[in-house]
Amino acid sequence: MSEPAAHSPLVQLRDVTRSFPGPPEVQALKAVNLTVDAGDYVTIVGPSGSGKSTMLNILGLLDRPSVGEYRLAGEITGSLSEDERAAVRARFIGFVFQSFHLMPRRSVLDNVLMPMLYSGVPRKERETRAREALDRVGLNHRVDFFPQSLSGGERQRVAVARAVVSGPRLLLADEPTGNLDQRTSGEVMNLFEELNDEGLTLVIITHDDGVARRARRRVRITDGRLEEL
Ligand code: ADP
Ligand code: MG
Repeated sequence: MSEPAAHSPLVQLRDVTRSFPGPPEVQALKAVNLTVDAGDYVTIVGPSGSGKSTMLNILGLLDRPSVGEYRLAGEITGSLSEDERAAVRARFIGFVFQSFHLMPRRSVLDNVLMPMLYSGVPRKERETRAREALDRVGLNHRVDFFPQSLSGGERQRVAVARAVVSGPRLLLADEPTGNLDQRTSGEVMNLFEELNDEGLTLVIITHDDGVARRARRRVRITDGRLEEL
């Protein structure tokens, strides 16, 4: 995938519906339209079961719309093969999850090295990049630790380092502060916001009103329908 034309939004969903065949059939997203420009900072709020994770999975090319179109950096993603989608994901998109999803038997450094196996970063640059990313999140003193010996906030910062180490354009986070206390969650949000100041586009799902209010732009999903707040 090439660099986007200056005028094309980074993300564009057009009339996206995602149905899960039942019975009963569930329409997790209903004719959703969403445009996110490069550099935007968007939070998505909504009750449990409203379609937030389904939306993030589609934005992250982990799932496909049943109906409608998803353009990423101007390119229609529906015509990409699974291999092409995986390649786009590895190069352009970083993910952060509520429960961190770190590899438990690998060191912090190995966890951050992992995504670079698939993203085209030359082998000899990988360790330098991983150490820089860990430095960036304030964890250069934890590189040889294992996830279980870290606090929740530290684990999430490792996950953020892993998400950004390949230099993605889009960062998707699904309840990234859901397992953190208020102070630690503030630290993780500060980190996201510094990355946004440096140009990274953020789309963050949250249940936490305090977290949601920090974003420049908020959208709400209710029963699969999206509204701008
Ligand atoms: P949220 O993240 O807002 O809690 P989800 O996007 O996970 O909501 O789910 C939205 C709706 O779609 C729910 O009714 C859920 O049960 C349904 N759903 C999600 N994934 C699947 C699936 N793989 N198969 C069937 N139904 C699903
Ligand atoms: Mg969810």
